[in-house]
Amino acid sequence: MRYNYRLRPGATAVDALLAEWGRCRWLWNEAVHQQKSGNKPTFAKLCKMLTQARSTNAWLRDGSQVAQQQILRTYGLALTHSFKVKGRGRPSLKKRSKTLPSLDYTVRGFSIKEGRLRLAGGVVIPVVWSRELPSDPTSVRVYQDSLGHWYASFIVRRDVESAPEVDGAIGIDWGVTTTATTTDPSYDLPYQGYRKRCAAELAKTQRKMARRRPPRGHASSKGYLRAKRQAAKLHKKAARQNQHTARQWAKGVVDNHQTIAVEDFKPRFLSKSTMARKAADAAIGAAKRELIERGTRAGRKVVLVPPAYTTMTCSGCLTRAKQRLGLGVRVFVCESCGLLLDRDVNAARVILATVERDRADVDGVSHVITSSGRGLRAA
Ligand SMILES: [Zn+2]
Repeated sequence: MRYNYRLRPGATAVDALLAEWGRCRWLWNEAVHQQKSGNKPTFAKLCKMLTQARSTNAWLRDGSQVAQQQILRTYGLALTHSFKVKGRGRPSLKKRSKTLPSLDYTVRGFSIKEGRLRLAGGVVIPVVWSRELPSDPTSVRVYQDSLGHWYASFIVRRDVESAPEVDGAIGIDWGVTTTATTTDPSYDLPYQGYRKRCAAELAKTQRKMARRRPPRGHASSKGYLRAKRQAAKLHKKAARQNQHTARQWAKGVVDNHQTIAVEDFKPRFLSKSTMARKAADAAIGAAKRELIERGTRAGRKVVLVPPAYTTMTCSGCLTRAKQRLGLGVRVFVCESCGLLLDRDVNAARVILATVERDRADVDGVSHVITSSGRGLRAA
């Protein structure tokens, strides 16, 4: 589990962190070059090369070996994933202007003394201890966000307090106007529209940014950077509000249901369209993330159901309609049993039924059951 805290590094510490990030970024890019040039070194080989490079280059030796090894490890992982996970590209170069600093340290590379975080190389940073660490952390990630704030993310072990078992089961369908429609209306999550409310303000700052954008090869003006920061701030604000509501909602759902069937929503669907839809996407993403995390942690049965056919199957008799429902059609009408139901409520019921039936059927939702093997189950 990760526990995150705000850091308040002084000017010296910030310089040291940025220098460390510069070295790690160089190593990452070097590894990418090695891969591209056909050398394809393994992680062990990369570590050997690092040792060699450190013995000949004083500037590299100035940095922490732990952080440098960790960035190579992260690179190795990204490379492995690029082969194993579908749709994941090879690790690419980290440009200075496009990536935010992120440094990893294992136990050998950091300690906590007198409430302050000490990193390898004698960097001491005060931490805002917003809550107590449940145990000694095994590693820490020190990173900066788009607003320039620094954070420490500790990996700690926490005894899993398996929540008491409950009976209920719930099906959840995601949507634009109502973020989550469920089989039990009291758990519906209406769309809060934080992003939408920010959108006008955001558009204003983005226009400002466009006006002040420096020509190619020229340094950014102060006004441009100010506008950029303003935009980042608005984004962050909306994201935090989204996360907050999502957390409260997910807690309620997880506390009262043993089986949670969730539509496996893929945001790619809507992301190309309007700002409002993008915003709704973000709200769904936050809610889904919180729900899955909380659910698995509490030991609930969380199953992700692929969205294919959920809107065109009848939740009463499980007959699949011949035609897809248009996006504007809000009511589902079953041709075979005459059921008449709100489109989203029907979809939520189908999602739940898919999971509860647990065995394949000749028609209707059978294929959905077989492909929901990817569903998450509590470990
Ligand atoms: Zn029907």
